[in-house]
Amino acid sequence: MVLGTYKDTICARATDKAIQKVSQDGGIVTALLSYALDEKIIEGAVVAGPTEDMFKPKPLVALTADEIISAAGTKYTFSPNVWALKVAVRQYGLEKVGTVAIPCQLMGIRKMQSYPFATRFLADKIKLVVGIFCMENFPYASLETFINEKMHSSMDMTMKMDIGKGKFWAYNDEEELSIPLKETHGYEQAGCNICKDYTAELSDVSTGSVGAPSGWSVILSRTETGDSIFKKAVEAGVIETKPIDSVKPGLGLLEKIANGKKTNATDEIKKRVEMGLPVPF
Ligand code: SF4
Repeated sequence: MVLGTYKDTICARATDKAIQKVSQDGGIVTALLSYALDEKIIEGAVVAGPTEDMFKPKPLVALTADEIISAAGTKYTFSPNVWALKVAVRQYGLEKVGTVAIPCQLMGIRKMQSYPFATRFLADKIKLVVGIFCMENFPYASLETFINEKMHSSMDMTMKMDIGKGKFWAYNDEEELSIPLKETHGYEQAGCNICKDYTAELSDVSTGSVGAPSGWSVILSRTETGDSIFKKAVEAGVIETKPIDSVKPGLGLLEKIANGKKTNATDEIKKRVEMGLPVPF
């Protein structure tokens, strides 16, 4: 299946206006992790926390809903959250940890849980992993370069970044700037070109904006844990939903994009193999 295995899919957003205001799309990551924390399903969550530079995230072991909210919004550059899982368990002494992860981080987390030779103390303490859809990610310096040179703006001026409608968007106080995604190709992390997973197939529950109307997210609940926590959050009124068949552009677009990523990555892997370059698959 092009979207991986999942139990249910739905369109959803956080009901909390404060979360809606700071979140990228439907605020599902923030709402779900905050709900799990409030309900003591987890004792803390590793999130991409804020720093002085809002687009240079740093892993944060969040112990309160406010700390989780402080990490809301997509950064488009890497936050090594997997590294901080060890900090959450070893230094904070957490027995039940949640986190948010992009597909490549999920591969590491699930591998660690499957073969926990040196991480037995950690692997079984990860209780909830919320995955986010990911097409590509940029080193900070690359992001800075194309925002400066192609978008004629700066990181300091930028308030929000987004990817949608085939473009990379940077918003500042005065204007919305965009460039076609084909112009950002070449700036992404080298591994992104051979990454086949768009929808975080190994997560407990994954989410992203593609397929949903503006301000909403598509949800794929994948495991018993993810499905159960998501449904309880809906019952508690923390998240509101709409049937996926009732929204546009809908699941068809998500499938198309996920399939395109798999095809492009397969072609790139073949090309690299033919050139004698190493590939991790
Ligand atoms: S595209 Fe794949 S490799 Fe690149 S950041 Fe996203 S999940 Fe990781």
